[in-house]
Amino acid sequence: MINGSCCCGAVKFELTETPNMMGTCHCSRCRKVGASTLIFVNSETFQITEGREKISTYKAEAPYKYNRCFCSICGSALGEVFSGEESFPVSANCIDDDIEIENKFHEFVSEKPHWSHIGDTSKQFDEHPYEQ
Ligand SMILES: [Zn+2]
Ligand SMILES: [Zn+2]
Repeated sequence: MINGSCCCGAVKFELTETPNMMGTCHCSRCRKVGASTLIFVNSETFQITEGREKISTYKAEAPYKYNRCFCSICGSALGEVFSGEESFPVSANCIDDDIEIENKFHEFVSEKPHWSHIGDTSKQFDEHPYEQ
């Protein structure tokens, strides 16, 4: 079992499997909410175990499509934990355990500020990597 929680501990979640994908987004929105490295979890392996009622959602407006969930007490960005999708992003910063996974890509590198340096050799994309 892999455990995750927000900064204050009000929100807790569990993963039954190591996620198979990790990516880092450098867009200004991810940067501002403080969640740029994300793991992609399978909904069947993810469960919120405490504090569901403490989670607030900042809804995406077009052209953006990802809602931002955060702890309403401490403000920790949690990712898209209320997603109905089969696979969805969860903030890697909230994982309590040291999981065996490495970052696979960087997206929206075109929006990265010059003071932020990429320190791994994974692929870089100016926008979303997997869209046509
Ligand atoms: Zn919290
Ligand atoms: Zn982003």
